[in-house]
Amino acid sequence: MALDWCPFANKRQIVDSNYASGRGGQKVQAIVLHIAEGSRAGTFAEFNAPNKLKSAHFCIGKDGAIDQYVSINNTAFANGLAWKNNQWFTGSGVQVNPSWRDIISGVNPNAYTVSIEHEGKFQETWTPEMYDANNRLLFWLSEQFELTLTPNRSLIGHWEINPVDKANCPGPNVEYARMAADVAAISAAKKLTWMPINTDAALYKFAQENNLGYPQMDEFPVNASGANYIAQVFNLGIVYVREGDWGNVKWVKKPEGS
Ligand SMILES: [Zn+2]
Repeated sequence: MALDWCPFANKRQIVDSNYASGRGGQKVQAIVLHIAEGSRAGTFAEFNAPNKLKSAHFCIGKDGAIDQYVSINNTAFANGLAWKNNQWFTGSGVQVNPSWRDIISGVNPNAYTVSIEHEGKFQETWTPEMYDANNRLLFWLSEQFELTLTPNRSLIGHWEINPVDKANCPGPNVEYARMAADVAAISAAKKLTWMPINTDAALYKFAQENNLGYPQMDEFPVNASGANYIAQVFNLGIVYVREGDWGNVKWVKKPEGS
């Protein structure tokens, strides 16, 4: 069973009239990306207004902050379609042909998807902070639901469910293939961490204890003020230790752009 709440998201539970409890026995098949067409704060306000019947599980801000509104084991109302006379219809009653081939005839897609809103407008390019936070969330979700992310299948845009009303959700600049590759690389790197990295693994242990992420390269030597250090780059910082002084590991934030 997946965790209900993402440990690195801000938990902002919304009113219970805007989502459904459980998933009606469905298993999550895909993560659906959306554009909020507004701010992260405004998205919470909209989803928390009673009886709106609208929600998503998450919203990611341009600054990289992640809000979570609905447990991922509950059904958010972001990707809904209605099934009548063996056809799909939008909420406004227009017949629609989803291109998403894993849609289950007769079962509302909300029941087997996780939805992520993104702050901003559909024409915009995501900020690097938003892109990185999205990757981090995708990786966490892929672990929770044991999903391998594949564009058009398990990683989709709202337009692939509703091309009538949502053709521009999340927008033309969203890099599905790059995200899928990033998450695959993160997954592979995570598996590598179970292999011995060096005799001490002091840098690795330190990085894990301090939530600095995963190694981005092998260890390398550094000489400073006549002393020899071993350093290693992790996602969120550069970790280093003076040779022989293995219990005294230090770290520094990576400079911007490196
Ligand atoms: Zn959408």
